Amino acid sequence: MSGLKIEKIDVFQVDLPYSGGVYLLSGGREYRIFDATIVRITADNGIEGWGESTPFGSTYVAAHAYGVRAGIAEIAPCLIGLDPRRVDRINDAMDAALMGHEHAKTAIDIACWDIFGKSVGLPVCELLGGRTDMQLPVISSIYAGSPEDVKTRVADHRKRGYVGHSVKITGEPGTDATIIKAALSEQLPGEFFIIDANGGLTTESALRMLRLLPESLDFVLEAPCATWRECLSLRRRSNVPMHFDELATSDASVAQIIADDAAEGISMKISKNGGLTKCRRQRDICISAGFTFSVQDTVGSDIAFAAIVHLAQTVPERYLRCILETRDMVTLKTADGPYEVRNGRLTAPTVPGLGVQPRMDVLGKPVATYMR
Ligand SMILES: [Mg+2]
Repeated sequence: MSGLKIEKIDVFQVDLPYSGGVYLLSGGREYRIFDATIVRITADNGIEGWGESTPFGSTYVAAHAYGVRAGIAEIAPCLIGLDPRRVDRINDAMDAALMGHEHAKTAIDIACWDIFGKSVGLPVCELLGGRTDMQLPVISSIYAGSPEDVKTRVADHRKRGYVGHSVKITGEPGTDATIIKAALSEQLPGEFFIIDANGGLTTESALRMLRLLPESLDFVLEAPCATWRECLSLRRRSNVPMHFDELATSDASVAQIIADDAAEGISMKISKNGGLTKCRRQRDICISAGFTFSVQDTVGSDIAFAAIVHLAQTVPERYLRCILETRDMVTLKTADGPYEVRNGRLTAPTVPGLGVQPRMDVLGKPVATYMR
């Protein structure tokens, strides 16, 4: 491979307002605005690659927006001069410069894949293993409002073509049983529901909630409890299908879920799980375990969504639950590209790289630049 070198890394910061006003999660958590970090890597032949990492506030997982940019400050100087297309070696260098903090590595990793694609004239999904024929189904993200409000927002997304819904709950068993019944009250054939507690239930409150629900309701319970022990305890005493999300953050944790038979699948979020390179590996681990999984991100704008679409486009239909339409959660557009959702579905573009053209007027000037 003839040499290509990272010459410069620029960091941009953008505030993304939540499109639904105030996003409510279990435990009284509220989110109004998401602080996005967008990275541009310039290679020595002039090719530019773009990546994004947008944490879901600072109370969702152990990730925060200042941490993304502080982490990049640690990592970026070590990457100047490396070949961005050697994505595993780039990740080795990032891991050697900073332990953990996967969300800080994600934007750089995605930008390297974008350069890789542009340098060989192929879309990122082809480099990740090759595209499937699947029309990717997008899922809604319904915050924990009143039962009537949840029912209305599910109906609104259904009308717009969404075939699946991720409905958040509060952590209070009686309230949550009512929310779940309202959310599923008009379920269509083939329409799927993820009931997401975001770790807000105890084993006791989860068992009580489940006992208040008819057995015939068709949903998957995601991230019921905050800790591994509580989730396993619940798992042993209920028959509800379960997915992990906040506890599935790495190759090792995904392997442990399999070893413990702790869930039927995971929510893979690109910035939580460490970027496209690490998610590619976790994708393969999930497939070998027969897991159903969704490809998402914590939140994000057009560039984060592009990475989701390219990875999801490589997952065989049998294993892909859905993708998250992160763009729908924010009011600001940071890039353009052929990513139109029709009837709740889309496919990855065929142009080289990620296929995004950032809006420089939205990004403004870099807040940091790293070069030799
Ligand atoms: Mg979740």
